[in-house]
Amino acid sequence: MPKTAEAAIQANEELVACYKRIIELLGEDTAREGLLKTPERVAKAMQFLVKGYDEDPEAVLRSAMFREEGYKQMVIVKDIDFFSLCEHHLLPFFGKIHVAYIPKNYITGLSKIPRVIDIFARRLQIQERLTMQIKDCIQQTLNPLGVMVVVEAQHMCMQMRGVEKQNSLTTTSDFTGFFRQTQTREEFMNLIKG
Ligand SMILES: [Zn+2]
Repeated sequence: MPKTAEAAIQANEELVACYKRIIELLGEDTAREGLLKTPERVAKAMQFLVKGYDEDPEAVLRSAMFREEGYKQMVIVKDIDFFSLCEHHLLPFFGKIHVAYIPKNYITGLSKIPRVIDIFARRLQIQERLTMQIKDCIQQTLNPLGVMVVVEAQHMCMQMRGVEKQNSLTTTSDFTGFFRQTQTREEFMNLIKG
């Protein structure tokens, strides 16, 4: 990742040149009016879509961490929209993420969970690793009694290439601590279905 402004400008210029070449190799005319600024736009869009590399998700959680020793029930944030890029095809996968944790000594501001999701989603990803990284980040930072993450996604690399059912959803989940108990997982799954 570019460390300085100068390096960032250079990376951007190289990306523009590469995308211009890619469009030519795909058989298009880069001098055509509609495509003139496309390499610049794609370079900028891609840099935005992977900007999560430059951000620290644990720092985001710690920025709003509060001591709370009384509340020992599930904290649930559900239906969080996310958009990511699959690292195998550089095509989007997107959907909804549901997170639950059971606090031990600390809670975090509820808006911080979607921020953490954004940071991990804005990298080249696979759904399984995205699920695990969100879980690990919350576990390591808040040290709760348990955390569970469920990701439901549609993958454009499956749908646009027509190899799978058009509307198939891929679901992944990962958990720690109290969520190892079937009953606790079921309680969470029932709450997110509603
Ligand atoms: Zn893919």
